[in-house]
Amino acid sequence: MKLYYDNNKLKIPQATCSCTHHQEINSDIYIGSGILKNLSSYISKRITGKKCLLITDNNLFTLYGKQILPLLSKKYDVKLAIPSISGHLQPNQYALGDILMELDSDCDFLIAFGSGTINDLTRYVAFNCNLPFVSVGTAPSMDGYLSVVAPMLKDDLKINKPAKYPEVCVFDIDIMRKAPDEMIFAGFGDVIGKYIAKADWILGSIINDERICPFCIDIIDEAISLCETNIIEIKNKTKKGVKSLLEALLLTGLAMLLNGDSRPAASNEHNMGHFIEMKKLIAKQPHPSHGEAVGVTTLYCLDLYHEFLNYDFTSFSISETITNQQSPLQREQAILKAYGPKIGPSIIKNNVDEPITLTEQERRISIFLKEYNTIKDKLLFLPTRNEVSKYYNELNGATTAKELSIDKALLKDALLYAKDYRSRYTVFKLVDELGILNKFVNHMVQYE
Ligand SMILES: [Zn+2]
Ligand SMILES: [Zn+2]
Repeated sequence: MKLYYDNNKLKIPQATCSCTHHQEINSDIYIGSGILKNLSSYISKRITGKKCLLITDNNLFTLYGKQILPLLSKKYDVKLAIPSISGHLQPNQYALGDILMELDSDCDFLIAFGSGTINDLTRYVAFNCNLPFVSVGTAPSMDGYLSVVAPMLKDDLKINKPAKYPEVCVFDIDIMRKAPDEMIFAGFGDVIGKYIAKADWILGSIINDERICPFCIDIIDEAISLCETNIIEIKNKTKKGVKSLLEALLLTGLAMLLNGDSRPAASNEHNMGHFIEMKKLIAKQPHPSHGEAVGVTTLYCLDLYHEFLNYDFTSFSISETITNQQSPLQREQAILKAYGPKIGPSIIKNNVDEPITLTEQERRISIFLKEYNTIKDKLLFLPTRNEVSKYYNELNGATTAKELSIDKALLKDALLYAKDYRSRYTVFKLVDELGILNKFVNHMVQYE
């Protein structure tokens, strides 16, 4: 799958599969070096109106305010919204409040100038105020530029709110190249996480007959390959490297849009990242960025996959597993303990289709045992932890939880309970339903 451009405007790849559920994607995406100067003309091709609210953060405004404001002011009435949060900006009710205080009723459109958090806040406001928005990306650090979901924080609970994708996206590679190394690693980690998303999706299609899209799988493969084959260019932040990483992130965003959900791009590695972030917020401790967390949790998910794929199931007993299964009450208590009193009740309330019945558990296990060899064959693409760690080493990224200040107890809880963050089917759920998750996790964390 090669990407094509027309004057820096990306030609959005058209699905070649026979799925009938795909959404049409209607966003003008511009990628190129030195293209920020065209911002106003890109906007005016798509959006009418004069009044805009430019949403950014203090740091980016100090760096680029003098550049971007004159560019826009020639054509537009620009008002600024810079959330005045002390410390690390979070997509929470306080930052949202700061933005809404600057939003006038006659505003015609919004501009997000930033990366993850700024875009999440803007897409949420744009959706709820029914305004078009423009995203000017500043770092290839996450795959959510085209997301229709805004992961927001309310009292430290991470909740996915409906949102919209930008009408216009402008990615100036010259700006993106200046993003700090940690943000480059974060973007890389977010893409590598797709190995797990893909594997879990395939597993779900086999065990639960989940709908799977071959075109989206191709997109994910292409995204991973763009990152892996350009690792040195990405490390050196060359134009080609940064563009490849950005393309990989946008491709996975397109797969999510096409599929209408995040199934192609997020599974338990994302659950673990969210779990760790929420627990760190509750403890009032700094947390790793989204992509860094996903990059590192992916390594542990790969470990679990390999434990699972190498396990000997020949004398496995379904009846014994069902008999030893914890009761719904025991399960609920364990989740409440792991997530804590602030978040735990919401996790239980938001996942109404869990726990599954014993009959359903038995059905899943039977299919698993029947399809075991097919599953092994279809998951041969999964790399080992060491193979992926080599890429992270090139980027000076973390390869252990400890390097991200995630201690053994938090890591263990994430491995055991992040699967309960949502009901999406994953290998962690399967291994738990097989009654061997504790055993695997204890083995995995013994040297942490
Ligand atoms: Zn992500
Ligand atoms: Zn499809």
